[in-house]
Amino acid sequence: MSESIHTRNYRADRLWLGEGWSEDGALAVDSTGHLGATEGPAERIGGWVLPGMPNLHSHAFQRAMAGLAERKGRSDDSFWTWRETMYAFAAAIGPEQLKAIAAQLYVEMLKAGYTHVCEFHYLHHQPDGTPYGQPEAMSLALIEAARETGIAMTLLPVLYMSGGFDGRPLAPRQRRFGHRVDSYLRLLDSLKQYEAADLRIGVALHSLRAVPEAAMREVLAAEPVRDLPIHIHIAEQIGEVQDCLATRGARPVEWLLDHADVDARWCLVHATHLEDNEVSRLARSGAVAGLCPTTEANLGDGLFPLADYLDAGGTLGIGSDSHISVSPVEELRWLEYGQRLATRHRNIAARHEHDSVGETLWRAALRGGARAAGLPIGALREGTRADAIVLDDDAPQLAARSVGAAMDSFLFAGNRPLVRDVMAGGQWVVRDFCHRDEAGIASRYRSVVEQLAAS
Ligand code: ZN
Repeated sequence: MSESIHTRNYRADRLWLGEGWSEDGALAVDSTGHLGATEGPAERIGGWVLPGMPNLHSHAFQRAMAGLAERKGRSDDSFWTWRETMYAFAAAIGPEQLKAIAAQLYVEMLKAGYTHVCEFHYLHHQPDGTPYGQPEAMSLALIEAARETGIAMTLLPVLYMSGGFDGRPLAPRQRRFGHRVDSYLRLLDSLKQYEAADLRIGVALHSLRAVPEAAMREVLAAEPVRDLPIHIHIAEQIGEVQDCLATRGARPVEWLLDHADVDARWCLVHATHLEDNEVSRLARSGAVAGLCPTTEANLGDGLFPLADYLDAGGTLGIGSDSHISVSPVEELRWLEYGQRLATRHRNIAARHEHDSVGETLWRAALRGGARAAGLPIGALREGTRADAIVLDDDAPQLAARSVGAAMDSFLFAGNRPLVRDVMAGGQWVVRDFCHRDEAGIASRYRSVVEQLAAS
């Protein structure tokens, strides 16, 4: 080992190693913030240490409007009425505001146990649709916010071209989202120069309704897109499924599987409304179903067919999407509870007798989240970024919990957050429930939101 690489050695009483808890909890962090080989004396960091969870779906700016669309409007309040509130709010957000909002959000994510965020970013241009002097200004605001807080990011600039399946142009409030294929590929190209250990670039197609078929083919065939993660919103809404059937003769997931080489590089966000043949084909493809249960509940989207999808061997991950809630615990809890309420049965995610629901969910979301983020594996192994969370040994929920019960207590018992410390890229960014810069970031956030509320 080179003299210049200073390795710090840690140990946990129990460490989550991908498939389950290990009592041999040694972790070594090298000077680049990655995990290395363990040796020598180690500092004890806690009783229960886990890999940080990837958040596979985020629209950072929406954090600032969480709670502003909960007042009854017309009798048919739905996703589409929520979207009007969101558009009005987005109109006043520029790069400085976006950076302040995103930094606050990323602090909250880290404190909740997310150490990587996939940012599905479509707020590209000035409010009238004119590009900024530096066309990637809004993307850079997100990158700066992530680096300020320590969270790792897969930035997914979004291609958004039309206002519906009929190919109608973007409405005035959507113009700042829009690109042609050539300007989109230029943006992608310019962002690739920022790639580093804490930043990956991927591709996002907003949805089938916003990207015509010819444009989708052109982007997927473009040289810089090979090998990148590809994310798309799909089948979130019944109205979207009906429009897709009417204009393209197939349901959204069915159509996508028929018209693109959907494989493990893909993340189908929401994928809420699936028929049986779509469930098995999607599971076989290796793509990740990107589930955002608290947002899907908040928007009244519907329920994903979890049991059938897991039986078919499907891969899933979780995201906080609109950020009505920012917590992997709550996403996984509601993923399970939605199914219990609908089926009047318990312990749905566990597929075999004696399996723990919590362990099944955490394991699945780690694996799928890593795949969607373009990371090699969702585990604390040599060569991966040192992203780990330490649970609070003193929490009553974990008192007298055995290895077999700790994860279920973490995910299902109580409301007090149990994430005490968080290491991101080898740095302790959260210690004793506090992020290292949370006061300054929160006060900057507060003044930006006050400004936005007054505008
Ligand atoms: Zn979304």
